[in-house]
Amino acid sequence: MKRNIEKSLYIVAVCFFLSAYIVFAPGCALKQVQYTAVGTAMGTVITQHIYTKGENITGNIMEIITSLEQDRLSYRVSESEVSKINAQAGSDLFIALSKELNDDLTTCFNVSTKSEGAFDITVGPVTRLWNIDAWVSGENTEQKIPEPEQICSTLTHTGFDKITYSDDQMLLPEGMSLDLGAVGKGIACDRIADYLDQEGITGAVISVGGSILTYGEKEKGILWTVGIVNPRNTETPIGTVSLSGEWYVSTSGDYERYMEVDGKRYHHIMDPHTGYPADSGLSSVTIVCKSGILSDALSTACFVLGEKEGMELADYYDAAVLFVDIEGKLVMNSAMEKIFRQTKEN
Ligand code: ADP
Ligand code: MG
Repeated sequence: MKRNIEKSLYIVAVCFFLSAYIVFAPGCALKQVQYTAVGTAMGTVITQHIYTKGENITGNIMEIITSLEQDRLSYRVSESEVSKINAQAGSDLFIALSKELNDDLTTCFNVSTKSEGAFDITVGPVTRLWNIDAWVSGENTEQKIPEPEQICSTLTHTGFDKITYSDDQMLLPEGMSLDLGAVGKGIACDRIADYLDQEGITGAVISVGGSILTYGEKEKGILWTVGIVNPRNTETPIGTVSLSGEWYVSTSGDYERYMEVDGKRYHHIMDPHTGYPADSGLSSVTIVCKSGILSDALSTACFVLGEKEGMELADYYDAAVLFVDIEGKLVMNSAMEKIFRQTKEN
């Protein structure tokens, strides 16, 4: 975990081309200040650059992320709303959902339906069978590939279409559970943007692991430049996207958490139909769109679907998409062509 966070810190540092500065607005008594903070939450690194004439709100933002994780989303925290729902799996009483979680689940089920199950928040039993958490810690746990029979029987407890879900309540069948790991960081970016609106912040760029929010502007007419990780050389960005105002950038890749057995890479993005890590010939997918949860869900869904169907899905949601395949070839849709610039040496 610690090693992963140190590595992520390094990646974040090289991926942002942001300069620290203080702007003195001409003819204005209040000066705009840049606050920068780096911390950890949701098992990942949080980097904040906030441009404001007000107070330093970086601590409040860390609290928003932590309470989202602890009170709402984490299936590992017994008091969270998701854990309480999971604890009621198999009950024939409908489970009432908070408005916030209901809205997020509506988006998740929408992407699940449109991606024909490539994105599925009930995939948790499969990721636990593969024990992907142990890959995060980097400990030598003598990883094994699960037996096909184990995978088959685990798949009987997955499938979003087995859930009865209407408006703000659901019935979760016995043995099933919700895992919002694929969208937690994107949801955090959405909540942070709401808070920045509330506080009247001038500009910000905030990364929650692989999900990044750009907001407002730091200086009139200056675009945000966000580095996109090169999946086979995480120390040098493969390129950058230039963005004006509020956007959400999420990348899912096979380089974050994986194990190698007999030269084959097994990573943490599962194909819910097979119960094995997605094998779509991709090493990363980056999505840029107007919603954090959507950017995060789509990066996972497109990774599972592969280039052709992933491109159709991204276009359906008006999202820009960049695919990097396992040979290092780049493919993108026209929305991405307008904002992406490849780094020269790649
Ligand atoms: P990261 O967690 O590195 O940001 P992703 O956003 O792509 O990566 O999400 C991967 C996480 O989502 C996994 O840790 C797992 O909990 C869950 N997951 C894996 N495959 C799927 C899938 N096909 N649909 C939904 N969730 C998934
Ligand atoms: Mg994701």
